[in-house]
Amino acid sequence: MIRCRSWRPVADSPHPSGHLPGHCRRCWGICLHPVAPGMPRCTECEVALASHPDAAVRSALAEEPSVSMETLTLLVTDMDAVVATAARWNLDHRLPPAHSEDTETHSELASSTAVDSSPWAGRGNR
Ligand SMILES: [Zn+2]
Ligand SMILES: [Zn+2]
Repeated sequence: MIRCRSWRPVADSPHPSGHLPGHCRRCWGICLHPVAPGMPRCTECEVALASHPDAAVRSALAEEPSVSMETLTLLVTDMDAVVATAARWNLDHRLPPAHSEDTETHSELASSTAVDSSPWAGRGNR
């Protein structure tokens, strides 16, 4: 059986927020819930990380190559600019070019000015 290896926030941690996964064993524990094959972590963990009050945790999730499309789409609209930018960068590199050409052209054009001014704008095709 495959188990979720994600860090998950401990609900009754005595610490204030700001401790990152893996750095503090009082704030974070390994989940170990059973997951389906091919899933890096269980849905519960992903939802817990995506809605975590610490922006550093959400941006770390947004940068993960294995994060689900569902969560990534949610993080693109995050109120924290760092999280939203990281999620958009991940999304841009995740979408197959052939598929995104038809549906994404207009939103790509509309958002290109914002993307160009960010340090993440390493598209490498110009
Ligand atoms: Zn802690
Ligand atoms: Zn889990």
